Amino acid sequence: MAHIYSFDRTEHIEGEVLRPDRYRQLFSLLTKPDVISRGAGLSYCIASASAAGSAVLATEFNRFLAFDPERSVVRVEPGVTLGELFEFASTHNLVPPVLAGHPRITVGGAIAMNIHGKNQFRLGNFGNHVHRLTLYHPAHGELECSPNDNAELFRLTIGGFGLTGHVISADIALTPLAGTAMAIERHRTGNLIDAAQQLQDLSRRADYLYSWHDLNRSDDRFGCGTIYLERHTENASSQPHWPIRSVGIAAKPLSWPLFNRSSIPPLCRIYNLKENLAPRSETADLYRALFPIVGKEMYFRLFGPSGLREYQALFPLERWNQAAEQIKLAIHRSATPISLASLKLFSGERKFLNFSGKGICLALDTPNTKHSAKLFSRLDDIVIGNGGIAYIAKDSRLSASATRSMYEDNYAQFRSALRAYDPGLHFQSALRRRLDV
Ligand SMILES: Cc1cc2nc3c(=O)[nH]c(=O)nc-3n(C[C@H](O)[C@H](O)[C@H](O)COP(=O)(O)OP(=O)(O)OC[C@H]3O[C@@H](n4cnc5c(N)ncnc54)[C@H](O)[C@@H]3O)c2cc1C
Repeated sequence: MAHIYSFDRTEHIEGEVLRPDRYRQLFSLLTKPDVISRGAGLSYCIASASAAGSAVLATEFNRFLAFDPERSVVRVEPGVTLGELFEFASTHNLVPPVLAGHPRITVGGAIAMNIHGKNQFRLGNFGNHVHRLTLYHPAHGELECSPNDNAELFRLTIGGFGLTGHVISADIALTPLAGTAMAIERHRTGNLIDAAQQLQDLSRRADYLYSWHDLNRSDDRFGCGTIYLERHTENASSQPHWPIRSVGIAAKPLSWPLFNRSSIPPLCRIYNLKENLAPRSETADLYRALFPIVGKEMYFRLFGPSGLREYQALFPLERWNQAAEQIKLAIHRSATPISLASLKLFSGERKFLNFSGKGICLALDTPNTKHSAKLFSRLDDIVIGNGGIAYIAKDSRLSASATRSMYEDNYAQFRSALRAYDPGLHFQSALRRRLDV
């Protein structure tokens, strides 16, 4: 049995981690009870393991199987990482349309959580660019799924937490690489409400768009910060720096937390000042801009052994101003330090338990303490009260009842479709048990 931690270090279980490297072995292991597919294990909750169960790693299955240059579609095994997908695409003057913050995340994990990037408002979620996949379930065998074949199963698998089966391969559409560097503009913002309007105004010019805010101020500077507008550009003066090898994303935390109530507020002030003094525009290395956490992995270790909590929620645009005021009050009352806060713009439709739909997305990090637990349950109420949803991949404590209240009919539809397809509930994870799906 191995000790398995959620990425945020707040959940811990003991279970078996199996690493097949042959298909026959893989299919045989997937028949085990309480089994679940596992990618890089970088979800903030334990989505790819269960207590006393078997987590079957997909990481040895990491080949590029086919490439159609005319359609810019690549067929990959699920253990290919987003970093490898980017490297492959860039050699063909293409880029994966949706990338998450870290290159070690796998394609299997990206499909199962239907991840989003800093360009969600423009290109949607990862699943929007998956054209076809092959799924294996011991009771159903291998199934080809696409928007045309087994369409319902395809919809259920994208953002389906690995509960419909093991993805064996996926066809991903790549987009033209509009420039080998990133032009970044900095725009100052006074608070969370102004920032949401600025994001909407700036979105027409942006390939990628997000913000950083200081939520530790008790004065009227609460939420001041910087909006980053990014566009692909050619940068003749510098060679691309990829591939940069990233190390230590899953490294052990420091024994003593350096992030706490005393250190976080001044650190955020310093960061805010630094960004205020930084050039209004600059050109950055594309790889670093697309994977902003690379080289900054130490951030996660500074929370110490108790770990961090992240809250990421999506609010309807028309409810944002009210929600932002309630969030401000909740943070002031809880006196919880916020080590990072960011906004993004979202578009598209809500579907099942996917983190998708139109609105403003807020993400915030805190050290894991009893104060942050209280703050997060207050945030659940604010999200529910304003018709929002929380991001399940980033949350290791969201209850089944809060999820039901947030996702409403989509929760029931996901649960019943999943059970109709797989009445034996063959695939099991700590996440599935917590959400009761
Ligand atoms: C530093 C960091 C930055 C992040 N940035 C973002 C971001 O910008 N946007 C975003 O949306 N998310 C982000 N995330 C969250 C992350 O993208 C998701 O949690 C993702 O699912 C993790 O993928 P993984 O390879 O680690 O898979 P795991 O965490 O191991 O598994 C995730 C899910 O995928 C399933 N799965 C894995 N492989 C397969 C397979 N072959 N077949 C079927 N199911 C499978 C698992 O069962 C599980 O349900 C970030 C996480 C970290 C740690």
